[in-house]
Amino acid sequence: MQIYRPSELIRLRIALFIGVVLVLTFMVADLMLLPRSMLQLYIIDRLLLQLPIILAIVILSYWQKFIQYRAYIFSGLLIALSYSNYWLIWVCWQEQQFVFPYEGTILYAFFCVFALGIQFKLALVACVINILGFAGLMWIAPVYGDRVPISMAFVCGSLFICVYARYRLDRSVQMLKETNDRLLKLSKYDPLSDLLNRRAIREQSEKLVALSRRHKVSVAVLMFDLDDFKKYNDSFGHQKGDEAIKIQARLMKEVFQRQTDIVGRYGGEEFIVVLSDIEKSQVEKHCKAFLDKWKDEGLKHAEGAKHPLMSCSIGVVFAESVSDLSIDRLINEADKALYEAKEKGKAQYVLAEAQCKQ
Ligand code: GH3
Ligand code: MG
Ligand code: MG
Repeated sequence: MQIYRPSELIRLRIALFIGVVLVLTFMVADLMLLPRSMLQLYIIDRLLLQLPIILAIVILSYWQKFIQYRAYIFSGLLIALSYSNYWLIWVCWQEQQFVFPYEGTILYAFFCVFALGIQFKLALVACVINILGFAGLMWIAPVYGDRVPISMAFVCGSLFICVYARYRLDRSVQMLKETNDRLLKLSKYDPLSDLLNRRAIREQSEKLVALSRRHKVSVAVLMFDLDDFKKYNDSFGHQKGDEAIKIQARLMKEVFQRQTDIVGRYGGEEFIVVLSDIEKSQVEKHCKAFLDKWKDEGLKHAEGAKHPLMSCSIGVVFAESVSDLSIDRLINEADKALYEAKEKGKAQYVLAEAQCKQ
C-alpha cells in the first residue's frame, strides 16, 4: 500500500507551477514567431485549452485520492497537452499554411514523465498514443513537407528515449528498494530462526514497556532455554541442533501470535518473548501450551539428557504494572526464574511476580 505523504503533494504542485511558467514562457516566444492572423487561434489553444487543463489538475490535487491516481491523471494530461498541440499545428497549416513547430510534443513527454513522475507502463501507453497521434497528423496534414520523415523520427526517437530512461529509472529504484528491504530484514532478524535478533528485541521491548507504563497495563517477559542442548549437539551434530532451533522458533510463532507480541532469539539457544496488556493466567496458559507443543513434536533427545524428548525451560516475570521497572530489570528477573526452572528439573516454567514501588 502506498503511504500518503504531504511533501509529495507539495512537490507535485511545485512541478505543476513550473509547468505553467514554462507554458507561459513558450507563449511569449511563440507570439514572436506567429503571424498576426494566427494570434487568436493560438491564444485559444494556450489560454482556453492548455492552461485550464493544467489548472484543473492543480484543483484536482486537493482531491483525497489524487496521490493514488496521479499517474493516470498525469498520463491523461500528457495526452491532452500533446493533442492540443497537434490541433494547433493542424489549424495553423490548414488555415494559414503556417508551419507550427512540433517540438512541444517532446517537451511535454519529458516534463510529464520525469518532473511529474509517470511510471514506465503508463508512460509507454501515453507515448505510443502520442506517436500515433503525430503519425496521424502527418498523414492528414504533411505540415513539414519533405521534413516529415525526419520530424517523425525525432518524435519517435525522443519519446522512445524518454520511456526507456523511465524504465531504467524505475528498475534502479525497484532494485534499491529490494536491497533496502533485505538490509532492513538482515538488521532486524536472526537468519537461522527468522525471529527478531537481540538488537531489535531491545529496541521494540523498550518501546513496548514505555507504552505499557503510559497505559498502565501489565507486561510479561519470558526467557526460554533449550534443555541439555550441548548434549543434543554432541550426539546428533550441529546441523540437527540448528533444526531444533528452527522448531523452537516455529512453536514460539504458533503460540505467541498477537501483533504486539515481541518474539526473538536472544542468543544461542536462548529465546525471549515480551507480552503486554495480558492476564497472568493467560501467560501461564501460553507457557503450558508451549511446553505441550514440544512434547507433541516428539523429538528424541540425546543419551543422558534429563528428558527423553527435546524440551525447553521457561523463566517468566510478570509485572502487573511497570511504573519503575526497566526492560533490563525484567529480563534479569526472567533469567533468575529460568535458572530456577532448570534447578527444579527442566521442561517446565517458573513464574515470578515483579514488584515495583507504587
Ligand atoms: P541446560 O539444560 O542447562 O541449558 O544445558 P545446555 O546444554 O543447553 O547448556 P547451555 O545452555 O550452556 O548450552 C548451550 C549450547 O547451545 C552450547 C552451544 O553449542 C549450543 N548452541 C548455541 N548456539 C547454537 C546454534 O546456533 N546452533 C547449534 N546447533 N547449537 C548452538
Ligand atoms: Mg543456554
Ligand atoms: Mg540450554
